[in-house]
Amino acid sequence: GKAVRLDKLLANLGYGSRREIQGLARAGAVLLDGEPVRDAAGRIALDPDLSARMTIDDEPLDPLPGVALLLHKPLGVTCSHKETGPLVYGLLPERWRHRDPALSTVGRLDKETSGLLLLTDDGALLHRIISPKAHVAKRYQVTLERPLAGDEERVFASGTLMLEGEEKPLLPAVLEVHHATHAALTLSEGRYHQVRRMFAAIGNHVAALHRDKIGGLELPQDLEAGRYRIMEEADIAGLF
Ligand code: URA
Repeated sequence: GKAVRLDKLLANLGYGSRREIQGLARAGAVLLDGEPVRDAAGRIALDPDLSARMTIDDEPLDPLPGVALLLHKPLGVTCSHKETGPLVYGLLPERWRHRDPALSTVGRLDKETSGLLLLTDDGALLHRIISPKAHVAKRYQVTLERPLAGDEERVFASGTLMLEGEEKPLLPAVLEVHHATHAALTLSEGRYHQVRRMFAAIGNHVAALHRDKIGGLELPQDLEAGRYRIMEEADIAGLF
């Protein structure tokens, strides 16, 4: 693989300034295959197994650039610096907020929406997921304030529903009714506050919103709110 200077590699993974990393290396805190790497200016091959072979202060090296995470977003945290309140990035290890390339969310969930949120530092992957051409559908579990009237499934599937202030009708969406006040809605686009605005457009109100599926990838049952996992190849393949 490509080779980069150890100090640059670790600085870009958020381990500190190049000077701090020189200190770590000299102190013997950086091991490759169990052997100290004391020269921070030396080059390291960026092999996919590097994270398994290198340790920093006895901890496995963080994932190399090209990482994707699957996060169970809790209520009350935001995806955007423009909103107030704690950011989703605060749920990741502190060091990960200093990565270059930086992690960003793949699309957004509202502050008061929970569920499956992806993050990546891989621009090509991000584009592949959010591009309208990719047709990666997103499924939301919706709790409503008022009972469903019965025609919502047809209205959402029609491809004619207009949202307040917009000029293009929504693409057809699939509603599966589970209960008078609970349904799953699957969207193949992602307009601002789309689910809340769709129910507002038909005179209802969303009381709670949770995303549980992106493409073919479901939020793992055992992943608690606020926790994340590094995505494996199979998770990524499951999206498409
Ligand atoms: N639609 C919404 O209204 N909010 C979300 O967070 C996602 C989809």
